[in-house]
Amino acid sequence: MDRQQEFVLRTVEERDVRFVRLWFADVLGMLKSVAIAPAELESAFDEGIGFDGSAIEGLTRVYEADMVARPDPTTFSLLPWRGDTQGTARMFCDILNPDGTPSLADSRNVLKRAMAKASDKGFTFYTHPEVEFYLFEQPIDTNKLVPIDHGGYFDHVARPAGHDFRRQVITMLESMGISVEFSHHEAGPGQNEIDLRYADALNTADNLMTFRTVVKEVALEQGVFASFMPKPMTEHPGSGMHTHFSLFEGDRNAFHEPGAQYELSKIGRQFIAGLLHHAAEITAVTNQYVNSYKRLWGGAEAPSYVCWGHNNRSALVRVPMYKPGKSNSSRIEYRAIDTAANPYLAYALTLAAGLKGIEEGYELPDATEDDVWNLTDAERRALGIRPLPQDLDAALQIMEGSELVAETLGEHVFDYFLKNKWQEWREYQNQVTPYELKRLLQVL
Ligand code: GLU
Ligand code: MG
Ligand code: MG
Repeated sequence: MDRQQEFVLRTVEERDVRFVRLWFADVLGMLKSVAIAPAELESAFDEGIGFDGSAIEGLTRVYEADMVARPDPTTFSLLPWRGDTQGTARMFCDILNPDGTPSLADSRNVLKRAMAKASDKGFTFYTHPEVEFYLFEQPIDTNKLVPIDHGGYFDHVARPAGHDFRRQVITMLESMGISVEFSHHEAGPGQNEIDLRYADALNTADNLMTFRTVVKEVALEQGVFASFMPKPMTEHPGSGMHTHFSLFEGDRNAFHEPGAQYELSKIGRQFIAGLLHHAAEITAVTNQYVNSYKRLWGGAEAPSYVCWGHNNRSALVRVPMYKPGKSNSSRIEYRAIDTAANPYLAYALTLAAGLKGIEEGYELPDATEDDVWNLTDAERRALGIRPLPQDLDAALQIMEGSELVAETLGEHVFDYFLKNKWQEWREYQNQVTPYELKRLLQVL
């Protein structure tokens, strides 16, 4: 038993914890949870807890259904919404095969592997996500969604619902050790944004799993409905999860170079070049639903074209203004990822793409300072600016041919992901939509 594990056992006893939830994500990034009694903790640390992996999409094939979840004691936290007495705690788990080897279907492990590869080169991957989501009135009527307010970007909404909502979410997150940097009303009615403080990508991905749960819990408490759907309303902006990336070598920000253009180092430039080069291949994962493409192609500051720029909000990659004297703040912003992505897989692939740029010494094309949405197709072509995939079908086709994605996800996650997503695409393609009925039924 190591010190972290002892700390967990002691805290569980001292704080009178009644249930310990073991958390992990399936291949789509859905949170899975199994509760154990405190008496089971020691054996959970030693051997893990066996469960039927076939019940969890993507984790295993039916004929080898046994899987083991082993909690990571460094992720222990009480769940503030379960109260102080006889409370509940949680830990994230690594998923193992019955023989104790890491499961190749565990998305947390996919990210760990990608980060280990970065670490072999001396890099730690830091991420800072801007999470957007909508709040709707209950009860939900999917034919007519009612946002909880009419606010817009940075509005101070008089009606306290949104305000108190963010305040309560942030208070809960901070009590769980998750720091929040900014929060504000976003552009859409009822749309909010909360930005987590930067952390290494594995911590960020764990924090995002917690974040989604906390937002849902607070919504339940306040009688509103929270959704991370990428584009819930045709006429309003989608919910993105722009993420700021940086690589550190020890204490040094490897993206920073004094005097360089935008103070961005060669490593930073190559990382962007890698992201641009592989952007189309990784889009099926960063934007994994049919609905994700309604956001990417629906305007409202979501990126549709593969290019980069300094403070250019129409670009896929943006290099934010450098804060003088703060070399550690040098970073780049990748704007495609949406809030419904599996954060483990999305960060594993963006990291792998960026590292590939460094390994291969990709040349970074010129920055685009134009608003790329306002250029004509011919102008974009002349500038060498390609579009992101326009729908899930196109994204999956590109992903299927990607060595980078196959290698980073590993065969099992790669195959499962494609199978699951092709099924979604086919189901969607067969639908007769309200749009078609409205447009065609009476005129034809
Ligand atoms: N909601 C926009 C998106 O879908 C982002 C708005 C912004 O924060 O710039 O990407
Ligand atoms: Mg935003
Ligand atoms: Mg942003």
